[in-house]
Amino acid sequence: MTAGAAESFERVFGARPPGLQCARAPGRVNLLGEHTDYNGGFVLPIAVDRAVRVCFRAAAGPVRLWSEDAGSWAAFELADLRPPPPGGGAPPGDGAPDWGAYARGVAWALQEAGHRLRAIQGVVSGDVPMGSGLSSSAALEVAVGTAFCAAAGLQIDGRALALACQRAEHAFTGVRCGVMDQFASIHGRSGCALLLDCRSLDFEEVPLDAAAVRVVVCNTGVRHALGQSAYNERRASCERAVERLSRRLQGVRELRDVSPAALRREADVLDAVTLRRARHVVGEIARTVEGADALRVCDYVRFGHLMFESHASLRDDYEVSCRELDLMVDLARGRPGLYGARMVGAGFGGCTVNLVSAEAAGEFARAMASDYRARTGTSPEVYEFRAGAGAEVRAC
Ligand code: ADP
Ligand code: MG
Repeated sequence: MTAGAAESFERVFGARPPGLQCARAPGRVNLLGEHTDYNGGFVLPIAVDRAVRVCFRAAAGPVRLWSEDAGSWAAFELADLRPPPPGGGAPPGDGAPDWGAYARGVAWALQEAGHRLRAIQGVVSGDVPMGSGLSSSAALEVAVGTAFCAAAGLQIDGRALALACQRAEHAFTGVRCGVMDQFASIHGRSGCALLLDCRSLDFEEVPLDAAAVRVVVCNTGVRHALGQSAYNERRASCERAVERLSRRLQGVRELRDVSPAALRREADVLDAVTLRRARHVVGEIARTVEGADALRVCDYVRFGHLMFESHASLRDDYEVSCRELDLMVDLARGRPGLYGARMVGAGFGGCTVNLVSAEAAGEFARAMASDYRARTGTSPEVYEFRAGAGAEVRAC
């Protein structure tokens, strides 16, 4: 792969200079912990074994990056970077996404954090499917950020790089993503999931052995328009729940601070809808911590139950699933080798994540694709992953 990247560099820039380097950053999938990030809770992502790569060298003059996948240039001066006005950064997916916005954003955010950068020339290529919920955007940001840091000889802390990449996405594309995607792309480890505390950004590695299990992602291919407004409403419900609960319970700043038992006790301060929203979040945080415990002892059956419970909670209490996601989970249920399945991501479309025994994963993926096609007439994308390594930079 890196040999190919060096050849691409030569084709694009007309030379293959010594000292070429390759920064690589993976996409991610979250196994458990949905809609918990903005409540200060836990998530449990893996970095996947697909990545965005930047083959680069430090160079004088403007930053010049060519994307093999987009077939276009991003070129800019480090000295005059400014975020677009609010609403002015066309979010990707609407019309023509400007992938260069991610690169400019990362350079801007690193400079805002006080780092002195050097310009780079590079070729971007990747095999993280774009716009499929596997966070190719975070992979691109982290790959570009890693390249800038290496070119300038900066040793920056992974947490600081993750926050800079998140800030870049907020400011330059208008997408208010959490920090999990960038974090998993940086800190992923082969054969491990990461239990990430979204409040402190402390994390722990928990084993996910590729010899035993695989993670299969099935993309329904639908994205219902409802998504954005529903997301904002859910966040507002969580804030309302905290506001009410904190009148009775001491030290409650976020739903993270409420246990399932305390929520049951104080249920009467919440209206019925707010109670269901809070019940999802509080239950999901507990499930995520329990899920990490299950993985530590390789109890995939227990982990799978927690995934199904998560899906039911997202469907019935948080009400962010949809017909296609429910169908995809139902088609998975009971299949040979399947431990658990649930919708993943904000909801109203997108993907399901499935934990499957390693030897059954290939057949599972094939059967899911053909059954979903038979039921809906559309062919879903289905991907099989192992937990992969986080971002790194190497000689090309
Ligand atoms: P997701 O993060 O779920 O894949 P997004 O819509 O957030 O979906 O990000 C996808 C966008 O990221 C693409 O439209 C493109 O602008 C950018 N991107 C990702 N990978 C690449 C790549 N290899 N080359 C150029 N742009 C990329
Ligand atoms: Mg994204």
